[in-house]
Amino acid sequence: MKQEDLLHFRSLLHNQLNELLHKADNTLADLIDTSEHPTEMIDLAHMEMNRGFTLRIREREMRLIEKIIIALENIENGSFGICEACGEEIALQRLEARPVTTYCIACKKEMEALEQSRGPQRASGFGMPGVRRADYSALRAQSEEN
Ligand SMILES: [Zn+2]
Repeated sequence: MKQEDLLHFRSLLHNQLNELLHKADNTLADLIDTSEHPTEMIDLAHMEMNRGFTLRIREREMRLIEKIIIALENIENGSFGICEACGEEIALQRLEARPVTTYCIACKKEMEALEQSRGPQRASGFGMPGVRRADYSALRAQSEEN
């Protein structure tokens, strides 16, 4: 990837991170506010429900924050924009829409198809090496003969 593209994505990710951290602050402030000022006896259950909702949003934001930090690390170590599964460069358009992605569109689609056919718990082994082990030992056997 070109240096100017890397710089572009780095500032994009930095902005997104700042925004999320700011929002996380507000969410936390809201949370403290509602729990410290239960204005009336009514609606306690409703308030609990809202707090649960707020916490879920926060959890999702936290996951995104982690992804952004990983993407920023990848920019530093030179692996940003490289698909984790096939090692090909991820299209700039895709990165523009989703800079935290670590898979190219083809691999992502393949993973989604796998998830749909096997269920979400079974898809974690995708992209693991070892599929070609049989080929490798055949090659090694060949070279030992020579
Ligand atoms: Zn790929």
